[in-house]
Amino acid sequence: MEVIQSFTIDHTRLKPGIYVSREDKGFTTFDLRITEPNKEPAMAPAAIHSLEHLMATWFRNSEVKDDVVYVGPMGCLTGMYIIMTGTYTVEDMRRLTIDCLKWILDQDEVPATSPESCGNYLLHDLPMCKWESARYARRLENDFHSEYSKLQIRLEDGKIFADA
Ligand SMILES: [Zn+2]
Repeated sequence: MEVIQSFTIDHTRLKPGIYVSREDKGFTTFDLRITEPNKEPAMAPAAIHSLEHLMATWFRNSEVKDDVVYVGPMGCLTGMYIIMTGTYTVEDMRRLTIDCLKWILDQDEVPATSPESCGNYLLHDLPMCKWESARYARRLENDFHSEYSKLQIRLEDGKIFADA
């Protein structure tokens, strides 16, 4: 099995920010890194679940809604993926995400939290989602990071694997 590209990022040097992890077939995958991996607590499952509902709702109603392919949480609970078509930069996504986060801070409920519309409708935490959103917005505005450090992995045959 080949080492997939996202596992070659050095997670020990990763700061919160917005990064491009893949560009293929006209799609760009943006990694929204919200917490610092393994150095501060990951998001609570209920908080990131609410963030998924709110962020997907905002992006799919925004000026760029026709180019939004996917909005979803990272399994490690430290960030979100947004996949876009078109030619968006990390600066574009930074501006959009800040607008999205500020909208989240004004919300009084999480959309689509009924048993009909969500697979785990009781797993939501709007106050904690807002806390994460406020901190992430501050970080995007004041301490923005967008360059990944690549991890070098020595393969079984002795070759160095530095990028996919
Ligand atoms: Zn849900």
